[in-house]
Amino acid sequence: MSIRDQIAPLEALAAIDADIRRIDAELTKHRGGLETLRTDVKALEDRMKGDRETIAAMEKTRNELMTELRPMASQIERSREKLQRSRNERESNAAQREVEELRKLSRDREVEIERISMAIDQARASTEDTEVKRGKLQAEIDGTSDGTTKAVTSLEADRAIKAEAREKVVAKLPVVIYRRYQSVSTRRPMAIAKTTDGTCLGCHIAVPPMMFQKMRRQDEFEQCPNCRRILYYVPPEASTDGGSADSSRA
Ligand SMILES: [Zn+2]
Repeated sequence: MSIRDQIAPLEALAAIDADIRRIDAELTKHRGGLETLRTDVKALEDRMKGDRETIAAMEKTRNELMTELRPMASQIERSREKLQRSRNERESNAAQREVEELRKLSRDREVEIERISMAIDQARASTEDTEVKRGKLQAEIDGTSDGTTKAVTSLEADRAIKAEAREKVVAKLPVVIYRRYQSVSTRRPMAIAKTTDGTCLGCHIAVPPMMFQKMRRQDEFEQCPNCRRILYYVPPEASTDGGSADSSRA
């Protein structure tokens, strides 16, 4: 029994699987890129939500301070009148203290209002910055999304064609060989290797001479003792053009 007829489908299978791996890697890249952008947008939206809550809290505090501040001017005015009407030093001192205390309370609120107003302005500027960034990312997503959807659709179509071709090729292989191929490919994605001179072209290490002699008869597939790939012999003239099916059958 010869393995010569099995080499071509086995090589076709390995080529199809290499294509499928490349397609899968591209699909992962496209999907991953979009996912990262969406996560970034979500983070910016969370930050803006936080900023808006902070601004709302600061505005509430500022309004309360302004409500407290408003009647103070007339209170100070009344204390001043009291000071002018004071009939003795005791009354005068008391009124003076009242004016000073009210002025201090009023000044403290003004300073605090000023401080909060600046903080609100800063927070608003920061929110606007974030909004611009978010807009840019969203535009990128929209652009990428169109491109990605097209690319993914096309890659998935390619993949379906490859999967169909794979089934046909697998049907041509003995189940034992296919199982061995599957088993090797879990560790070595490129699960097959050929040799023309006794060196495994998968790992470039020589196989034992006895094994090589046996392989030259092309009776059965071997496994490279070093890399465990399914190993087969291809005559030198056949290997120069990449070991096509026709020359290996010759
Ligand atoms: Zn090897």
